[in-house]
Amino acid sequence: MDDITPTMCWDRFWELLRIFRHHGVCPLIGVVPDNRDPALMCQPPAPNFWEAIRRLQEQKIVEVAQHGYRHILHPAPECSILGRRYGFKEKSEFAGLPLQEQVHLIRQGKKILNANGIFTEYWFAPSHSFDMNTILALEQCGFKAISDGISLSSIRCRSIASVPQQLSRAKWMPCGVFTVCLHPNTITDKELDRLQRFLNGNKHFTRFSCEVALCKADQDASLTDEIYRVSYICCWALKSNLANTIQRTQRMMKETVKWWSSSPDRINEKGKQPFSKETVKSRAVSAIRSRENRLTAGRNTSADYRYHVTGPALRRPAFQDESTLPGK
Ligand SMILES: [Zn+2]
Repeated sequence: MDDITPTMCWDRFWELLRIFRHHGVCPLIGVVPDNRDPALMCQPPAPNFWEAIRRLQEQKIVEVAQHGYRHILHPAPECSILGRRYGFKEKSEFAGLPLQEQVHLIRQGKKILNANGIFTEYWFAPSHSFDMNTILALEQCGFKAISDGISLSSIRCRSIASVPQQLSRAKWMPCGVFTVCLHPNTITDKELDRLQRFLNGNKHFTRFSCEVALCKADQDASLTDEIYRVSYICCWALKSNLANTIQRTQRMMKETVKWWSSSPDRINEKGKQPFSKETVKSRAVSAIRSRENRLTAGRNTSADYRYHVTGPALRRPAFQDESTLPGK
């Protein structure tokens, strides 16, 4: 479960936990140590947040991972595999930052968790975005595993076990290890029903800690993992491209019909010559383009992006005031 904060949607959180307990599933919850992301503030902060999380962890109802530090994302266009056009986010809290800065952020987050009685060796990044410096920083801060990556099985990235996280909704898969990422803040009744139906019919679940324990020290990505990863990214790009094309065509047809049906009549009422077909068409096209530009400018896609890099630290993006940055 993603985005666990004192200000999350508690009803949904408890409802999800009830469903998981009923089916004997112990979820991994990602706690944001010091949330500053307004998108994750659904209700006033619960005063007993840390106590509640601590008890759930002690009773082994959940396993806990540190989820970033403040959940504030900076623009990181260099870090996206395919870019915004394909629905991949170009933002990150960590990717692109120098190693020492990442160590500082992760350590600060860990301190907050520890001060509140939460101890964990698991971690995952907001927006699934991290780089090799993040892996090095996690090693320095004593973490053992991340819940992220696209593969069919858990693999090692240096000493850090990467348990793959590929799905945003529960679905049956023929083979491999799959993690489903659920958001208590936004999950709908329909999705909860779907989850219950899935849990009724599927019984092969494992704890995150068990999967980490099973991941061998030298477990590299196999050829199957690589094929799966490339196929996953290609499918995502194709799906996104197709959806964009359909949307664009629909908008264009709508706008054209609107112009064709309204413009000549409106102009005729004023006693002027109606526009020619070419004028109407070119105006419709320019109206659509300007609308698209506006949409693109304010766009904040909900799709995740995955980041895999083996190179050195990436260039740091220009500084921005945190208060002006949009959240995930
Ligand atoms: Zn998050």
